[in-house]
Amino acid sequence: MFISTRDNTNKVHASEAIMRGMVPEGGLFLPEALPQVTFDDLAAHTEDSYQEIACWILGMLLDDFTPNEVADCVAKAYNEQTFDHEAVTPLVKLTENRYILELWHGPTAAFKDLALQIMPHLLVTSVRKNACEKDIVILVATSGDTGKAALEGFKNVKGTQIIVFYPHEGVSRMQELQMVTTDGNNTSVVAVKGNFDDCQRAVKEIFADQDMIAEVDKLGYQFSSANSINWGRLSPQVVYYFSAYLQLVRHGRIKLGDKIDFSVPTGNFGNILAGWIAKEMGLPVEKFICASNENNVLTDFFNSGTYDSNRPFMRTISPSMDILVSSNLERYLYLKNGRNGEEIKEWMDALKEKGSFAVSDALLQQMAEDIVAIDCDDKTTKKVIHDIYEETHYLLDTHTAVGVYAAQSIGSERIAVVDATANPFKFVEAVQSALHPEETASSEDALELMKDLAKETNTPVHRALAALTQSGVRPHRIIEQNDIRSAVVNILQEKR
Ligand SMILES: *Cc1c(COP(=O)(O)O)cnc(C)c1O
Repeated sequence: MFISTRDNTNKVHASEAIMRGMVPEGGLFLPEALPQVTFDDLAAHTEDSYQEIACWILGMLLDDFTPNEVADCVAKAYNEQTFDHEAVTPLVKLTENRYILELWHGPTAAFKDLALQIMPHLLVTSVRKNACEKDIVILVATSGDTGKAALEGFKNVKGTQIIVFYPHEGVSRMQELQMVTTDGNNTSVVAVKGNFDDCQRAVKEIFADQDMIAEVDKLGYQFSSANSINWGRLSPQVVYYFSAYLQLVRHGRIKLGDKIDFSVPTGNFGNILAGWIAKEMGLPVEKFICASNENNVLTDFFNSGTYDSNRPFMRTISPSMDILVSSNLERYLYLKNGRNGEEIKEWMDALKEKGSFAVSDALLQQMAEDIVAIDCDDKTTKKVIHDIYEETHYLLDTHTAVGVYAAQSIGSERIAVVDATANPFKFVEAVQSALHPEETASSEDALELMKDLAKETNTPVHRALAALTQSGVRPHRIIEQNDIRSAVVNILQEKR
């Protein structure tokens, strides 16, 4: 069963936690007890495929799903159509003791596909298990990567509609092109004249608006969310930590039981939390390296015990990590601090009211057993991309480069796996300028730049990006902020 990080809800099963997304009164769902994996269990799964590991791990993390239901979701999510590598998340050796876990082989070239390819199926299964007769409407506010990954995951999934709101002129050209060229009979993309926060606020208001809920109910729909606080998005990410470890064992790089480190480019603390959950379940990991860009609120937190979001928001070349309030930290603190929901509530209220909170020295020391936090500015990020390419001819994206820098900085001989969270072509302008710090870009056009970079580095353009063309743009709405609600109703009426 699942409990809340603020001890403010009745216990529910996984399917209900997934349908609800988060606890309505605030708080995030967590399993009452994390399942445990022994040495013998790991030994028994060493030769497993990614799909087999996913069935094993998700079977434990989704308490009321039957083995058949899990297997069905896994088969639909991870196959030759969705991922272009047999291993799904292959490991690449970068330097002695440093490996890259390529998490970008899915349909949108970012690691979010690992979660968002399966989450729609988990949600549909959850709806069926709870005998809900309505179609589900997923509302997503995005600043870039999540929108496209959610669109690809939900497109043509029966019983669902997905509507994505992004800030008009507020995402990269590549990200916009990816979203507005999505096909599927249940997808809608809306550009909102406002910024990301405006989109996010409007979406959250709709979730809590009783009139709106009643109105879409009459049309036969109910709302849900696909953001990273949903257990249906977090649990699938635990799988690739097991997969990475077992690949190292299989390839003879480590012996079963040896401890390794993971370096994770971090924003909302979802990806690194999934890894830490794997460790708590029994995966032999020594340290997680929490790698941040110039928005280094987490680095300061893990070094001082004070979380202080009162600082300028920096726009960096690793935009998917530009975030000052990391939602999933709440889950880590709850589990690490003796499951004290009262204290979590105090901290989260303080964060909301004055933008900061502080933990005890005792907790600070315990956190240091798991996590080392390191940050990296844009200049250093570019230097890492440049130098690694010179040394190894491997092309890093800007987010992954932050992770590589952090792994190199801790000065340890232990084997470290760096999560590669995006394909380099997705952030082509920054990667190109990292390789050629002295020159101006060869083209203004991102699609042209991609071709140039592919030729120069002899690295193929990711299929998700290679297929993009201006002519594939589908009609989409561009609206004022005040029209978000009516846009939702109009879209749903049209779709009925
Ligand atoms: C979302 C994202 C991140 C941050 O992941 P979190 O789970 O939010 O910590 C890092 N890199 C890329 C490319 C992303 O899209």
